[in-house]
Amino acid sequence: MSTTSSPRATATAGAEELAALRAAVRQVCSRFGHDYYLRTSAEGGNARELWTALGEIGALGVAIPEEHGGGGQGIEALAVVAEEVAACGSPLMLIALSPAVCATMLADHGSPAQQQEWLPGLADGSKVLAFAITEPDAGSNAHNISTRAVFEDGAWVLSGQKYYVSHVDNADAMVVIADAQGGPDQLPPGPKAFLVPTEVEGLSRSEIAVEIISPERQYSLFLDRVRVPADAIVGGERGLGVLFSGLNPERILSAALLNGISRYAVDKAVAYARDRVVWSEPIGAHQAIAHPLARAETRLTAARLLTLEAARAADRGETGGVAAAMAKLEASETASLALDAAMQTHGGNGMAREYGLATLSGLVRLFRIAPVSSEMLLNHIAHKALRLPRSYR
Ligand SMILES: Cc1cc2nc3c(=O)[nH]c(=O)nc-3n(C[C@H](O)[C@H](O)[C@H](O)COP(=O)(O)OP(=O)(O)OC[C@H]3O[C@@H](n4cnc5c(N)ncnc54)[C@H](O)[C@@H]3O)c2cc1C
Repeated sequence: MSTTSSPRATATAGAEELAALRAAVRQVCSRFGHDYYLRTSAEGGNARELWTALGEIGALGVAIPEEHGGGGQGIEALAVVAEEVAACGSPLMLIALSPAVCATMLADHGSPAQQQEWLPGLADGSKVLAFAITEPDAGSNAHNISTRAVFEDGAWVLSGQKYYVSHVDNADAMVVIADAQGGPDQLPPGPKAFLVPTEVEGLSRSEIAVEIISPERQYSLFLDRVRVPADAIVGGERGLGVLFSGLNPERILSAALLNGISRYAVDKAVAYARDRVVWSEPIGAHQAIAHPLARAETRLTAARLLTLEAARAADRGETGGVAAAMAKLEASETASLALDAAMQTHGGNGMAREYGLATLSGLVRLFRIAPVSSEMLLNHIAHKALRLPRSYR
């Protein structure tokens, strides 16, 4: 596993602190649950009530440094939050974006002024950042982005198109990845991160309809000479370093959300399998029902261990790319398997909205594609861990 240093080496929270955090998040989420998640998604809401409640107990800011209003506990603690939120039936994708990708980039690479402006609000949930990297012609290949930032008359001017930008309708600003060079610091060419307000001249968006039940909606963004100040760039010439400091936490947090979904599905299925009798025994006595659930529980245990390993590597200041890739790959496949087994256990009720399983199908399927696909994770593991040659440049 990779040991390259990143600027952040966060003190890992102790077991007692993490247990207390887990209990506090569970208590908050028990007031919401899957019915709330469905309702807020159906009504075009943004789960703001749950987000605010999590912010109030400091759960969204656990990985943000204490001097900026956070808990200073690291990615392992944020993964605990994500897993518990999802295990309660409200898997908020936004946790993998605003407090994970964006806050980590700013904490690791932001200027003091950017950190002061954004981190306290991200920590208490009063501010939200979206993240825009994907483009129609550059999905898995982020090196191929065509959005450009050109320095003109003392400002960066961004032009291009992004798509599948989650939750930008409810964000204060977003981190946009654009190719840039030059500027006051004579930057070399390559991808750089820019803070761009969501309400700014030249920026327009259109919603992409997707078959996923979630409070986060998806947008295409069109940047037509969007001007942002010279100091909107995050981390200056450390372009790729800035990007990667956010992408591993995104993978780890995605894995944690998926582990929470797997727990939710297995717990529901086990309860149902114990109760439901159609012959003389509860259906859980039939091995055809019990074994898929036992397999899901085993895979879930493995996925949680991989996620823990990846989170701890991140908190030790290592890039830990292989660990994060393995965690996200295993967690996404496990969640598919667990949800499927839970639906099968429920028979016809597996398809009923009331039982809250089929409602997660789109989301669980999504996570084998985004934020990074299983194929790209396998490419990374094959290349970095096994030293196999790459099939693409
Ligand atoms: C609901 C949703 C929310 C999203 N939220 C965000 C967001 O907030 N911000 C953001 O920037 N993006 C977001 N995305 C975009 C997401 O990250 C991309 O969809 C994902 O990275 C895949 O890119 P792509 O869709 O262009 O697929 P492509 O890159 O076109 O890939 C298509 C298929 O080809 C495979 N493939 C491509 N290259 C290779 C290769 N070298 N080897 C093997 N297989 C390969 C892929 O694995 C995939 O199966 C979101 C997407 C969705 C659907």
